[in-house]
Amino acid sequence: MRILIIAAMSFLAAAPALGQQDFSKVEIKTTRVLDGIYMLEGWGGNIGLSVGDDGAFVIDDQFAPLNAKLTAAIRAVTDKPVEFVLNTHHHGDHTGGNPALAGSGATIIAHDNVRSRLASEDDAAPDALPVITFSQTVTVRRNGHEIHIYHPENAHTDGDAVVYFRDVNVVHMGDILFSGMYPYIDIDGGGSLDGYIAALEAANQMVDGDTKIIPGHGPLSSKTELEASIEMLKSVRTRILALINDGLDEDDVVAANPLADFHDEWNWNFITTERMTRIAFRSLSAT
Ligand SMILES: [Zn+2]
Repeated sequence: MRILIIAAMSFLAAAPALGQQDFSKVEIKTTRVLDGIYMLEGWGGNIGLSVGDDGAFVIDDQFAPLNAKLTAAIRAVTDKPVEFVLNTHHHGDHTGGNPALAGSGATIIAHDNVRSRLASEDDAAPDALPVITFSQTVTVRRNGHEIHIYHPENAHTDGDAVVYFRDVNVVHMGDILFSGMYPYIDIDGGGSLDGYIAALEAANQMVDGDTKIIPGHGPLSSKTELEASIEMLKSVRTRILALINDGLDEDDVVAANPLADFHDEWNWNFITTERMTRIAFRSLSAT
């Protein structure tokens, strides 16, 4: 799985290569979170799925070439059509399935900024843009759940959404949680380290020890992994801010390697310890 994520993320960074990628080897793994709610892993951001009498409610949809496999995985747990798709943000590994799902009748929901960012892309598909957008919160009542969706500001991007199934205590964090690995913070896309930490802390206030957490990337998680990410990122912030205040420039901070002791636990191919250092430096220097 880790290899798939790495490939998807590096691939995102090199978008022109998208069409050349071999999606035929990707398989969708379905994990039951609890009755009627599933986590689907393929290639790219983890997908959340609620099924029931009303229809399928899908959170994120990975890449277009995976649509047939995604549809088959949904079919395996429900005979109802996909009624709604919620995009947790605009990145291509979370929204690539929008055209196919919208084409088969799904209504796409996302933060206002997700729609504007998707609409500005060169290959924007007007019929596949979010139809329902929101600025702060929206609640969808489907399949017996009250699905509360809220927007943390300037965290992973400027259009993030966290999805909370209040009644059954399940959360899909979008890319506000990379479980067990350094997160990608898209500064050019409106994200920030401070916003990211604030979003994690707000989620941590909302959840308890029984909450099942679907992260944007990584395995099905709990409050334990959420808190570990918060602690790590707060240390990252403190250490790098101290070096900035000492007058070090970005390369000097990287050379000082202030995150060395985090490397073994948190480093991965897409967000290496060096890249985490540079992201934190740039974000903290900008504020
Ligand atoms: Zn993302």
